[in-house]
Amino acid sequence: MNKSEFKSFLSAVPKAELHLHLEAVITLSGINKLYKNKFGKEMSKEEQKELFSYNDLNGFIQSFLKIQGMYSSVEDFRVVFDELKKYLVKNGITYTEVFFAPTAFLKMGFKYEDMVRVFHEKITEIKEKTGITIKLLMDVSRTFGCDNAMNNYNLLKQFPCEDIIGIGLGGAEAKGPAKDFAPVYEKALKEGFHAVAHAGEDVGPESIWDAINYLHSERIGHGITAIQDEKLMEELKKSKLPVEICITSNTFTKKIVKKAKDHPVRVFFDKGIPVNINTDDPVFFKTTLLDEFWICHKDLNFTMDEIKELVKNSFRQSFMSDKEKKDAVKAVDAAWQI
Ligand SMILES: [Zn+2]
Repeated sequence: MNKSEFKSFLSAVPKAELHLHLEAVITLSGINKLYKNKFGKEMSKEEQKELFSYNDLNGFIQSFLKIQGMYSSVEDFRVVFDELKKYLVKNGITYTEVFFAPTAFLKMGFKYEDMVRVFHEKITEIKEKTGITIKLLMDVSRTFGCDNAMNNYNLLKQFPCEDIIGIGLGGAEAKGPAKDFAPVYEKALKEGFHAVAHAGEDVGPESIWDAINYLHSERIGHGITAIQDEKLMEELKKSKLPVEICITSNTFTKKIVKKAKDHPVRVFFDKGIPVNINTDDPVFFKTTLLDEFWICHKDLNFTMDEIKELVKNSFRQSFMSDKEKKDAVKAVDAAWQI
């Protein structure tokens, strides 16, 4: 199968994506809409070019912040959800758990309850029109300390929304060690929310141990530095703790892996560690979920049977109910007609 045959085949198979950031699905056309709303004029070609001309993590973060500054009101999230819908449809994704990070928007003066109202309206509309299920995980933020994260979590409780099923912790690991956020995670898990955390993306295995021991994270985001610690690899296997793999994202940031073919996902999978495949920030890293599976097949020698397992894993390792997981796995088998 060549790349276009592979992608066309796989686009028709139902898939899930579990590590995806809401603000990073917006394309240039969506960004243009935000810009026009905010400044009342078109964005210049130079500005557009500059926005996507980064080639390292810092440049990416700068662009990300610039785009965040283009939102005028919570209504702009409608544009973002329209972009999310397009992305999900194009990739044949039927279920997703998406991170949203409220901190920057709250600092801009947006009201949390207004954000959540727009989220719920758009998620309901997308479900009605496409059948796609979108669940949200609040990234409580590791950048501004535990009190800020706790305040975010409290908003989640104060304004309950059926679409928001748990919390996550993204951002610079070195600046916000996982253990600092243990009180938020303890509370969230006790109160019936799910909890995941980015760990081992750009900090060593100790960050993953912290996410396990202090946060009791139900999945590990990235987790690639586990490859440096055999005891941790055994622990992930024994405890069946899923790792959310983001290959292109990791090769872009170049912290641990320079090339896709050197990505530890192959070793994780062969060892029996549960893994699922994701894009992280598809527009910013110029990838799609279909591309990520193609990389697994072409650069990491995953056979088609193994690709099928990876596709099923995303459903199995999601926060769907057991019945939903069973039905979703069955649907993958039914659609897998090579
Ligand atoms: Zn991420």
